[in-house]
Amino acid sequence: MRSPPPRSALGSAAILDPRPGAPALRLSRAFLPTLKETPAEAQIVSHRLMLRAGLIRQTAAGIYAWLPAGLRVLNNVARIVREEQDRAGAQEILMPTIQPAELWQRSGRYDDYGKEMLRIRDRHEREMLFGPTNEEMVTDIFGQFAKSYRDLPRNLYHIQWKFRDEVRPRFGVMRGREFLMKDAYSFDLTQQGAQHSYRQMFVAYLRTFARMGLKAIPMQADTGPIGGNLSHEFIILAETGESQVFLHRALLAFDALRDTPDTDADLSHITDFWTQHYAATDEKHDEAAWNAIPEEDRVSARGIEVGHIFYFGTKYSAAMGMTVAGPDGTPVHPEMGSYGIGVSRLVGAIIEASHDEAGIIWPESVAPFRVGLLNLKVGDATTDSLCADLYERLRANGVEVLYDDREERAGVKFADADLIGLPWQVIVGPKGAAGGMVELKRRKGGERHELDRDSVLERLIG
Ligand code: ATP
Ligand code: MG
Repeated sequence: MRSPPPRSALGSAAILDPRPGAPALRLSRAFLPTLKETPAEAQIVSHRLMLRAGLIRQTAAGIYAWLPAGLRVLNNVARIVREEQDRAGAQEILMPTIQPAELWQRSGRYDDYGKEMLRIRDRHEREMLFGPTNEEMVTDIFGQFAKSYRDLPRNLYHIQWKFRDEVRPRFGVMRGREFLMKDAYSFDLTQQGAQHSYRQMFVAYLRTFARMGLKAIPMQADTGPIGGNLSHEFIILAETGESQVFLHRALLAFDALRDTPDTDADLSHITDFWTQHYAATDEKHDEAAWNAIPEEDRVSARGIEVGHIFYFGTKYSAAMGMTVAGPDGTPVHPEMGSYGIGVSRLVGAIIEASHDEAGIIWPESVAPFRVGLLNLKVGDATTDSLCADLYERLRANGVEVLYDDREERAGVKFADADLIGLPWQVIVGPKGAAGGMVELKRRKGGERHELDRDSVLERLIG
């Protein structure tokens, strides 16, 4: 995700003398259109803040353009997802958005999918569609290669735009029509192998969401139209969530990041903890089991689904005619699972979980920039030179900086900085700067410290 800083942001000197460094941006030259007013169409806080902070713009119902700061967050979320998929042994591929209808006719889902599928005809009148998911395509692609049990197990994933013509697109990127999803597909020889793959993804998901500062709770789920017999939804708790959820308090205290398990025993140790405590969405809620939990341990809350994993056996391998030769030579349909994460929905979900009255509070791992540098008196020789120096030194040391060098009142800069929600603010005013001092403010919690230039750099670098 790291790219060289845009040349326009550095001025002509940098073009003559390009230096490596973290991405940085001067607000005076940025495309970061913040809004003071609350947009009327936005019903939930994440949608309001994404519009107000200049992260996205709607181009049609449920379809959004990602502006520079929003795209940086989306890419950070995708990077964490990718790192954890890779760590769990999945391999990244990239399948196209447009699929031939013929694949879906083979699985029988072409008619079943109904109006949520966007159907397209090309110039030769061939039926195509914008993919809502990829079970058929990945089975077709991998099936052409895998001939023997030795080609298994494999887990293939991609991060790609999906289109689902949702009845009620709403809440911004939370329920869009075009949205970015990570979808992984596992192929195993045996049911036992498929369960291992399922557990690997289960634990990878816990790590993925924890790295974004989210507490995602796996809940036993309906398998819905994908079918099959084992499925969990990963749900983060938030007041504006679309699902009602019920869970045992013990699940809120579990730290998934402690280890990186790989053996089946280690994986089971973690998945068992989650599956042994009660957690269900209202669709699966069981009053009797719920009432058996001591009252003080019952938590009922609203939740947002950020991921969904399925084990569905040979449903697609059989339908698509995929077989491999087993150890004794007889043809076997591989056991499969699929594993989705709502990458674009996560951007909204993170904001739902982390904001205040003034704006967004980005976790460091996904923030569009780590530091906001506020020059409170542009044109003042002392603040200008102190800011220029901090800006260059932070960049050169790999710290991503958004520099507010606009000719605006201090109040406007404070409000925008809080709205955009970068984890750290370095505030440079004329009085402090004269004595070589700046203020460092942490967005989360709001504590402030007066520091000299070297101490502020020391705090932010390394
Ligand atoms: P939902 O019940 O929210 O419609 P789903 O069960 O249809 O979700 P999956 O097919 O399992 O979703 O897709 C995997 C993930 O993609 C979901 O967990 C969710 O995070 C995300 N997702 C699904 N539909 C949308 C959408 N319309 N907009 C944004 N993200 C979505
Ligand atoms: Mg859906």
